[in-house]
Amino acid sequence: MGKKISILGSTGSIGTQSLEVVDKHGFEVHALAAYKSIDLLEKQVRKYRPKIVCIYCDEFYNELKNRLSDMNIKILCGMDGLCGIASDTSADIILNSVVGMVGLKPTLTAINAGITVALANKETLVAGGSLVMAASKAKGVPILPVDSEHSAIFQCLQGNSIKQLHKIILTASGGPFYGKTIDELKNITPKDALKHPNWNMGSKITIDSATLMNKGLEFIEAKWLFDVTPEQIEVVVHRQSVLHSAVEYDDYSVIAQMGVPDMKIPIQYALLYPDRMECPTKELSLCDYGSLTFAKPDMETFRCLPLAVDAIKRGGNIPAIMNGANEVAVAAFLNGKIDFLRIAELVEYAMNTVPFKKTLCLSDVFEADEAARNAVNEIIK
Ligand code: MN
Repeated sequence: MGKKISILGSTGSIGTQSLEVVDKHGFEVHALAAYKSIDLLEKQVRKYRPKIVCIYCDEFYNELKNRLSDMNIKILCGMDGLCGIASDTSADIILNSVVGMVGLKPTLTAINAGITVALANKETLVAGGSLVMAASKAKGVPILPVDSEHSAIFQCLQGNSIKQLHKIILTASGGPFYGKTIDELKNITPKDALKHPNWNMGSKITIDSATLMNKGLEFIEAKWLFDVTPEQIEVVVHRQSVLHSAVEYDDYSVIAQMGVPDMKIPIQYALLYPDRMECPTKELSLCDYGSLTFAKPDMETFRCLPLAVDAIKRGGNIPAIMNGANEVAVAAFLNGKIDFLRIAELVEYAMNTVPFKKTLCLSDVFEADEAARNAVNEIIK
């Protein structure tokens, strides 16, 4: 019997790769949701025959209804649609692979409905980590990490006690600009930044990888998922993206997870957990790589990483502010409105401008997010 899966963000990079895993293992697709890629969504609906489909941008809702008028399917839109899917307990597991803060409400909705969440939406944990983890604990609903580093850590923890975890070694590829100086980063274009050496990903995360904000987001994500202190996480640059992260136990024994850099491996691990079966990817040949390298990250040049470490140390609403500011700054960089180095400056500005709040409820998270976006938009308009 295959599991029943709902996928939020089915037309994105993680979504399409997860459907390759679905093809391989014969899952039943219960629901699909996309942001606005209506052509691909229609194709997916005709192939996988889900019971529910959602298009996030309402302006495409009528068009989708017309296109699918020959099918017996429930068609939803907007945030209500995402949460409608997230609360539908016919699914055994929901993969949340939407980009950005949009993912927070659906994640909480699924947890409250008691549905296991395979989480690829890292902004969810960055902005609302305390709320998401508290809900997961209260409801006894597991969150299975899809991010490759967190999947690696999760895999290294299997069969061991998390109480004896001494440290997490979070690996970073270093992105396309590893080794560059501030001067060399001044005239970077979106086209330069969108060329990642190892991973094939969506545009937001690719820019985050170039600024190292992606590692900052993952630092915070790791803190919440594995309940460690910031001092227990060490970021190590590993250019080959073969060793996806490691854990060190109290006896200083280090266990790492390795594999080719292909998101289908962590996606499949979350979807089939705890089973392991053949994955539609390549085997790892260590001899083909010959050597693996490790180095300290350059925190002076790539300011977003230390800003994220600072954000989680300060706690409260600061990570949500950081994340909101970063989302706006990355979009502005992609639209050619600001320079590459401005991204970190704007994030830092928002972190120091928006009023600090220590304890958070859900509305505080959205308030912090909005205040950060407004602060950045005010400057770049
Ligand atoms: Mn990652």
